[in-house]
Parts: sequence; structure tokens; C-alpha cells
Amino acid sequence: MKVYEWLSKGPDDTSSFAQKLAGKLKAKDVLLLEGDLGAGKTTFTKGIALGLGIRRNVSSPTFTIIKEYQGNLPLYHMDVYRLQDSNEDLGFDEYFEGTGVTIVEWAHIIEDQLPNEYLSISLYRLGDVERRFELKPVGKRYELLCEELFS
Ligand code: ADP
Ligand code: MG
Repeated sequence: MKVYEWLSKGPDDTSSFAQKLAGKLKAKDVLLLEGDLGAGKTTFTKGIALGLGIRRNVSSPTFTIIKEYQGNLPLYHMDVYRLQDSNEDLGFDEYFEGTGVTIVEWAHIIEDQLPNEYLSISLYRLGDVERRFELKPVGKRYELLCEELFS
């Protein structure tokens, strides 16, 4: 499996990168985000939202699990951290197969309910403002997306 690495120099850098990626997204695309608390998953998601033309402020949906935003494409933002140990099914498939883009923070927690193809993005904190991004495309659609993004 091919892995793409990208280094972020700060929150704005992360936002620009996310906006660039957002410009290439389409309905039914799924991004899975992994990384410790404070790694930058929500910061990255806010960048995606900007790139999708969403004007509402995107906040961490920790207490609601799923939030939906309207832009050029709908954005389904999930933070499934609170589902740890519960294995609850909130009908995720309807979002994955819906008309928008889905982003899942802490995706491994709902491992059994994830689609077969997705772009996995792991964030690692290197310092106060430096972050390492590891992008792993699973499926042809996401392989092409990464090739384009990094060309
Ligand atoms: P998570 O959702 O992974 O818990 P957040 O995005 O909520 O993380 O928080 C990340 C914190 O780290 C924010 O306060 C953000 O400003 C800060 N930060 C510093 N450098 C970066 C960077 N390069 N990319 C993203 N966030 C960064
Ligand atoms: Mg978060």
C-alpha cells in the first residue's frame, strides 16, 4: 500500500492543505482521521469545510457524534470518540453513501462499520506547531486522488 507523507508547519498550513484536498473531493468520499487529542483533526476538518464553501463555524462534534453542514457539497463531520466501548450503530452507512463528503475523527473506534474504500489520514504531533500527515489511500478512487494531490 502506498503511503504519502506531508509535513505541516502550523495550523494555517494544515488548513491550506485541507482546502487543496477539499477542492478534489466529491459526493461519497470518505476521509478517516486518526491522531491523539490535539493532533489537529478538527483543525484539518475546518480547512476541508472552508474548501467546500461552508460558511458556518465547524466545531468539534464530540457531544453530538455527527454534525452536518451545507456547502458546495454537504459535509458530514463525525467524532466517534464517545462511542468507545459502546459499538453503537448510528446509521453511518447513510452518510457514507449519501450526497456529501464524510470525515470521521477517531475512525478506528467504529472499525466494523467503515466502508471498504476510504482515504486514511493519520496526524502525528512533532512539536508545538509541526505535524506529520500520513495519507493511506484504500481503493482506486483514493489512490488517484493522492496521486493528483501530490503531483
Ligand atoms: P484534534 O481534533 O486532533 O483533537 P484540534 O484540531 O482540535 O485537534 O486541535 C489542534 C490544536 O493544535 C489546535 O489548538 C491548533 O491550533 C494546534 N496546532 C498547532 N500546530 C498545528 C498544525 N500544524 N496543524 C493543526 N493544528 C495545529
Ligand atoms: Mg477533534
